[in-house]
Amino acid sequence: AGKVPKNVLILMSDTGGGHRASAEALRDAFRIEFGDAYQVFVRDLGKEYSGWPLSNMEQSYKFMIRHVRLWKVAFHGTSPRWVHGMYLAALAYFYANEVVAGIMKYKPDIIISVHPLMQHIPLWVLKWQSLHPKVPFFTVITDLNTCHPTWFHNDVTRCYCPSAEVAKRALLRGLQPSQVRVLGLPIRPSFCRAVLEKVLNSLNFLSITYVLASPVMPAGLPLLGLQNEIREELELEPELPAVLLMGGGEGMGPVEETARALGEELYDNRRQRPIGQIVVICGRNQVLRSTLQSLRWKVPVQIRGFEKQMEKWMGACDCIITKAGPGTIAEALIRGLPIILNDFLPGQEVGNVPYVVDNGAGMFFEDPREAARQVARWFSTHMDELKRYSLKALQLANPEAVFEIVKDIHKLQQQSVTVTQIYSLTSSFSYHI
Ligand code: UDP
Repeated sequence: AGKVPKNVLILMSDTGGGHRASAEALRDAFRIEFGDAYQVFVRDLGKEYSGWPLSNMEQSYKFMIRHVRLWKVAFHGTSPRWVHGMYLAALAYFYANEVVAGIMKYKPDIIISVHPLMQHIPLWVLKWQSLHPKVPFFTVITDLNTCHPTWFHNDVTRCYCPSAEVAKRALLRGLQPSQVRVLGLPIRPSFCRAVLEKVLNSLNFLSITYVLASPVMPAGLPLLGLQNEIREELELEPELPAVLLMGGGEGMGPVEETARALGEELYDNRRQRPIGQIVVICGRNQVLRSTLQSLRWKVPVQIRGFEKQMEKWMGACDCIITKAGPGTIAEALIRGLPIILNDFLPGQEVGNVPYVVDNGAGMFFEDPREAARQVARWFSTHMDELKRYSLKALQLANPEAVFEIVKDIHKLQQQSVTVTQIYSLTSSFSYHI
């Protein structure tokens, strides 16, 4: 008690919604596990301190993922080490002073990167400032399978991989086994609590043992209500099964077409009544939101923008249709939602499809009609199948990953030297190279 808190600087960028979600998950887990012992800063350094193109990353990314071929070229074209190595070195050179100032301002005792482009430059900066390896540097990878090689840097203290597949890639890129840990994708702690409730609902022996075996049920988090309570709060129909439709933070993929198809397929024409309801989360895609709001629907539909409490929306629904975003997939697994994937970004999201399908947690349909028909089957004649997928999803989930990562970082931090003195020494110098 009374100790000076250690500063943790988490580097992220708002390209998509996943990196911010992981950064915030780590921040919350530090608070839950260690209280005031750590002061956590989540920062988009590119946006705050350097010039084009890092400051423009959010816009460039949005532009490129809308023009998928362009993204494919960018992803694969920059994969060879000499290409991205040179590119990032040039950027580091041009923006050195800004980035140094940006990092040093927080006097970090620990730096964590949750972004593929935040390894090289910050590590160079640490070297220039003679702070490497005194300030431990951690990479937390947020792609489940086929990730970009810029995620891997040999000088990191540790590289946390969400799956064995990613760890294999890390080793191939030259990281030492001692640097690599496979603990799962960090998901916001508010999701962890959710598992218990889902299981109470399903009363399934296997999943009960799963939860009892899971060590974290952190105290101090509000317990989510049972599904019908959440539904009431979110103004959903209490009785009808619900499908959640989304496309990451930007509302990407064939969301509109799928919503229309669901609107048809979830209506029983013979009995003239709906067999299910739809929740569409459009994220930051305003156009999508207003288009969907202007349509007439035969079944109950909720159309939302960017939602802050995804755990509630997932808790209220019975299955999900989404593009293969790693964050959304990991969250849906924790909530035991069977997953229908309808799209993926070339490059980093390709591998997420077999990850879900081969593990029995979901299916992949490119055709919105087929995806909608599958949901209709699950909600009518194939309820048992839906339950089976739900169970597989729970088995694949890693709700405790975020806590295991912060505990491991804490352990390593305690072993490293105190860097506070170093900052007081360096602060008298200007940060020029
Ligand atoms: N998300 C959210 N509110 C929304 C839409 C998305 O909080 O309205 C979150 C979602 O829960 C997930 C992240 O944004 O954590 C999306 O990450 P993912 O990796 O699935 O896709 P990305 O947007 O990064 O491509």
